[in-house]
Order: sequence, then C-alpha cells, then structure tokens
Amino acid sequence: MFAAARSAKTSCVDAHAHRIALACKGFLDDEEGLRLHDLGRAHAHLGPVVEVGSYCGKSSVYLGAGVKAAGGLLLCVDHHRGSEEHQVGEEYHDPDLFDARTGRVDSLPELRRTLHAAGLEQTAVPIVAPSPVAARVVAGPLGMVFIDGGHSHAAAHADYEAWSGKVAPGGILAIHDLFPDPSTGGQAPIEIYRRGLGSGLFDELPGTKTLGVLRRR
Ligand code: SAH
Ligand code: MG
Repeated sequence: MFAAARSAKTSCVDAHAHRIALACKGFLDDEEGLRLHDLGRAHAHLGPVVEVGSYCGKSSVYLGAGVKAAGGLLLCVDHHRGSEEHQVGEEYHDPDLFDARTGRVDSLPELRRTLHAAGLEQTAVPIVAPSPVAARVVAGPLGMVFIDGGHSHAAAHADYEAWSGKVAPGGILAIHDLFPDPSTGGQAPIEIYRRGLGSGLFDELPGTKTLGVLRRR
C-alpha cells in the first residue's frame, strides 16, 4: 500500500537542521522526516504549510528546513498540553516537559529552543491552540497540511474536518501513524486517511513508512 517514495539519500536537507532534528525529542522516523522536508519544499509556493502536532519540534525542523529553502512559511499548531499518552502516569509522559506551576504538560519552551537552534524563527510560526481553534484563524489555501496531533477518534476526525478543506489544489495532505494492521497501532489516523481518499478530493501518492500522502485534485 505504501510503496517507498524516494530514497532518503535523494533529500538535500540542510545539514545543521538535520542534526537538530535527529537530536530532538519526538516521534518521527528519519526517513519520514526527510519525506516531509521534500514535500514541504516542493509545495510551500502554493501557500503556508501547516503542521498539526509539533510537540518539541522534530517534525517542525524537517518541514521547516524544506519550507525555508522554498522561501515559505510553516505554521506549527499545538496546544502543547500533550496527547493522551503524554499525560502524567501514561506511557509517553516526559517529566522534563511537566510545568509544576500549572500542573500540566508544556512542550512549548522545548519547541522554541528547537526552532531557535535550527535557525527557523523567521520561517516557523507557533500557534498555541487546540487544532480546531487554530483552524479558525488560518485561511487557506494551504500548500500542505501535516496531521500528527491527537490520536483519539474525536481528535483525528476534528483535525481532518478543520484542515483538509483548506489544502490548495495541487497541495498535500500528509497524515502520520498509519497502521493498516490494527494489531500494530491505533486506527484513527488511517481512518481519516481513508476518509480523504473516499472524499474524491485527493489522489493517493506513495507513502513513506507510516506517513500517508494525498494530493488535492
Ligand atoms: N510531530 C511531533 C509529534 C507530535 S505528538 C514529532 O515530530 O515529534 C502529538 C502532539 O499533538 C502533542 O504535542 C499534543 O500536544 C498535540 N495535540 C494533541 N491533540 C491536539 C489538539 N487537539 N490540538 C492541538 N494539538 C494537539
Ligand atoms: Mg505521529
């Protein structure tokens, strides 16, 4: 289903940004990141690129480096309170990202450090808000939307509904964490991927590992 798209070696990501991305905390494979870089670079001329779910900035740096090379803008959307699995006591909780004053997870300071280190402060614009709220202040058309936010059914479908209609003709809707076999991962991301395909608005491009890629007709 997801044929390998391009060899990672064909990507020409800025070497400094690549080192920052590799060292950044997060949940993204290098090959997937390089694909995001190339997609961002190739589509930023169609409109701003939106990332839903930045966390500490790993995917933001891959995408941002590509968008920067194209002279575009990246909007990094995240409420920075973490997904279900990042909360205290859950599998992916990181005590370094806990803000004792609010008693909540807060990944925004780490995102800012990452964007600073990667030289992306003129390219990447953090939007600190729940995804559907952020969508209300961002008009399309967008060159690309990358969805990697909450993985509950409600969150994933809300992301699809808020953002998919803003993708420019010829632009990209990329969705992370597709697991065709339900025993290997949650099904919400692949559900919205199939929803995009079923809408008739998108064509399927080759994916990279768990990254699905659709192009708006
Ligand atoms: N792309 C990141 C990983 C994202 S983890 C990387 O490359 O490492 C998922 C992120 O989505 C978390 O930071 C969480 O705070 C955010 N998130 C979850 N649900 C959200 C929502 N409804 N609105 C905004 N952000 C959300
Ligand atoms: Mg993910």
